[in-house]
Amino acid sequence: MYVETGQVSKQGGVYKCFGHPDFTIKVNEGDILPKCTKDKPHDALWVKVAIAKKESEQTNSD
Ligand SMILES: [Zn+2]
Repeated sequence: MYVETGQVSKQGGVYKCFGHPDFTIKVNEGDILPKCTKDKPHDALWVKVAIAKKESEQTNSD
């Protein structure tokens, strides 16, 4: 899911800048996406980061 700077997020969560994948922000539902402030402030394409990871999936065969 992508949201641009100035648009309202329909899903809260963590978003990362498309151009700066290491730069993430926390956004609440209904918030307007800010500019990315990495390097210089710029209009960004924000990419939703999936946080729900399963760490308990281990394939252990012996
Ligand atoms: Zn950026």
